Amino acid sequence: MTYGGKKLFLALSWFAFFIVLSIIILSIYLVTPRFAELHRRLPLLLWVLAGIVILAVGGGLLLISITALTGFDVLYPHGGEPITMRVLFPVVLTLGQLFGFGKDRLRDAFVDTNNALLWAQRKRFSAGKVLILLPHCLQHHDCEWRITFDIANCKRCGKCDIAALAEVADRYGIEVRVATGGTLARKVVSDFKPTIIVAVACGRDLSAGIIDSHPIPVFGIPNIRPNGPCFDTKVEVERVEEVLRELLFEPVRQSQLAEAPIRTKTGSEKTQGNAVG
Ligand code: SF4
Repeated sequence: MTYGGKKLFLALSWFAFFIVLSIIILSIYLVTPRFAELHRRLPLLLWVLAGIVILAVGGGLLLISITALTGFDVLYPHGGEPITMRVLFPVVLTLGQLFGFGKDRLRDAFVDTNNALLWAQRKRFSAGKVLILLPHCLQHHDCEWRITFDIANCKRCGKCDIAALAEVADRYGIEVRVATGGTLARKVVSDFKPTIIVAVACGRDLSAGIIDSHPIPVFGIPNIRPNGPCFDTKVEVERVEEVLRELLFEPVRQSQLAEAPIRTKTGSEKTQGNAVG
């Protein structure tokens, strides 16, 4: 898997860190004479406190960077990185725009970094209740079937990617829901209480969902928008399946997939070869 935007996100995060670091050092340097007048040990105490904060933040960012870039999980086990990412996101969004990067690119970069961290940590998560969350704009615009309440209503005609996604969900026995917006998506998450979410959406909705769903890990897969935003969008179904395979610790080769039984909503089983239609 590749996550191109993570380098941009991490570069901006480090830049923001060094700006804050410079401000802290300059501020302490300027107030040191005044503090020394109050007590001769006060400047030393100030430097020590600043050093602890800088080491904690810089150390956390270093661990996030190593994990995201190498895929090797060196993150602290208490799960502090989502909080760090939540703090970093608005900082990077503001700083990135000052450098001329568009909001969409910065949001995608955040999602990429989040995915890279989750990917490195995936063996830590419980795959007991995986939820696939899809946006309504994936459904073909003239489809008459109501899939927001139950994706089983999809007739799998193949005009949009919902058919292939429903089949993937059946094959792995995973719950899949279609949400028409952020409010419904939050309700689905709150009702279903998943242990991990695989979400398909645009960068804006994914970044908001990743932050809102904390502490539930959200693996974000950006949709493809050949017809503009929110209209007949598409998704790389293979990528969704690749993520599920890894999350469920079920490495399945393509040849095996072809013969793998599909568990339908009605409980009957059929093979992939006769699934469509
Ligand atoms: S695949 Fe399903 S959701 Fe898409 S157009 Fe056909 S019936 Fe509608």
